[in-house]
Amino acid sequence: MLNLSVQELQQHATPFYVYDLNLLRQTLQQASQEAAKYNFQVHYAMKANTNSPILNEMRAVGFGADCVSGNEVKCAIENGFPADHVVFAGVGKSDAEINYALDQNIFCFNCESSHELIVLNELAEAKGKTARVALRINPNVNANTHKYITTGLEENKFGINAWELPDVLTLLKSLPSLSLIGLHFHIGSQITDLSAFRNLCTRVNEFQDWFESQQVQLEHINVGGGLGVDYYSPDEQPIPDFESYFSLFNQFLEVRPNQQVHFELGRALVAQSGTLISKVLYIKKGVSTNFAILDAGMTELIRPALYQSYHKIENLTSKGPEDKYDVVGPICESSDCFGKAVVLPETNRGDLIAIRTAGAYGEVMASAYNLRDKAAAVYLS
Ligand SMILES: *Cc1c(COP(=O)(O)O)cnc(C)c1O
Repeated sequence: MLNLSVQELQQHATPFYVYDLNLLRQTLQQASQEAAKYNFQVHYAMKANTNSPILNEMRAVGFGADCVSGNEVKCAIENGFPADHVVFAGVGKSDAEINYALDQNIFCFNCESSHELIVLNELAEAKGKTARVALRINPNVNANTHKYITTGLEENKFGINAWELPDVLTLLKSLPSLSLIGLHFHIGSQITDLSAFRNLCTRVNEFQDWFESQQVQLEHINVGGGLGVDYYSPDEQPIPDFESYFSLFNQFLEVRPNQQVHFELGRALVAQSGTLISKVLYIKKGVSTNFAILDAGMTELIRPALYQSYHKIENLTSKGPEDKYDVVGPICESSDCFGKAVVLPETNRGDLIAIRTAGAYGEVMASAYNLRDKAAAVYLS
C-alpha cells in the first residue's frame, strides 16, 4: 500500500500527482553510489519528468541531463545543470533547437543520421564553433520490451545503422566544424531482462574494435538508459537493482584506457516516486463488470492507453469486501481505462484511488484533450 499519509493526501483537490521525495533521494543515492564504483557518469533522461523539484534532486547528486528537445536543453540550463553536463539526442532536431544548444556550448550532440551531421556542421560553422558529436548507432539488439518502446532494432527510426558507418566516417572527415568524441546507444525502455544489456555490451565492443581498426579513438561511450522498474510490486521493490545493472556493464563492456562511460537513466530513477491520486466519481454496474469512474483519465496518465501498460491501482480509503472493477477515466475514448477487472475493496463515490509507479512518463505526457485542466503536483519529503 502507498506509504504516504491518507489524511495528508485528502487535503488536496483531485486529481493530482504526489511525489515522495524521500524515496526519490534514496533511489538517487543508490544509483549514484553504484555508478561511482566504476567511475560511470549518469545523465538523467529529462523526458521522464521535468518538474523542478525532481530536477533539483538529480542535480544535487551530480547527474547531468540527457535532453531530446531544445526546450529540454533550455529547461536543464534554467534548472542549473552545467552546460558541459548536458547532452542532446533525438532524430529530428530543428535548426532553432540546434542553434540554441550551440549557443549554450552543451557537452555533446548525439547525432542520428548523416543528414543531421551535415546540417549540424553548417550551423556550427556559421557560428564559428566546433560541435562535439557522438554517433548514435542502432546496434540491432532486441530489448524484449513493448514494441512502442523498443528503439534499437533496424526497423526503428533511431540511430545510424552499422552498414552506414564507413560512409559516415568518410563524411565526418569533410565536416570541419564537428568533433567526434564518442558513440551513443539506447536500445529501449522498461527493460527488465538484463541479458539485453549484456547483448548491447557485446555489440558496443564490436563497434569499438571497428573504430579502432579505422584509427579512430573515442573518449566517450554512452550506453543510454532503459533499466525497468517493477510496476507490479512497487512496495516490494521500490528501488531498482542498480548494483546488478552497473556491475553487468563493468563486467562485459570493454572500456578503453581513459575512456568515460555514460548512462542515461530516466524511468528507473523517478517512476516509483510518483503516484497519481484520484477520486471515484461514480460507480456504474455493467453487464459483466462494475465500472469505477475516476476524476483522472488518460489526459493525466496516458501510458495504459498508449502502451497497454500496467499500473497498480489501490483504493486508499475503503476496507469493504473485495469486488472487481474496470477502473476508467472520464475522457471520451474507450481506451481511457487504467485497468480491467481490478480487484479492489468495495469502492464508492469519494474514495481515494492511487495509481502507482507514475513518476516517469506520467505528468510529462499530460494533455489538455477535452479541455482538461492540468493536474497539480504535490511534493512530500
Ligand atoms: C528516453 C531515453 C532515455 C531514457 O530511457 P529510460 O527508459 O527512461 O531510462 C535515454 N536515452 C535516450 C536517448 C532516450 O530517448
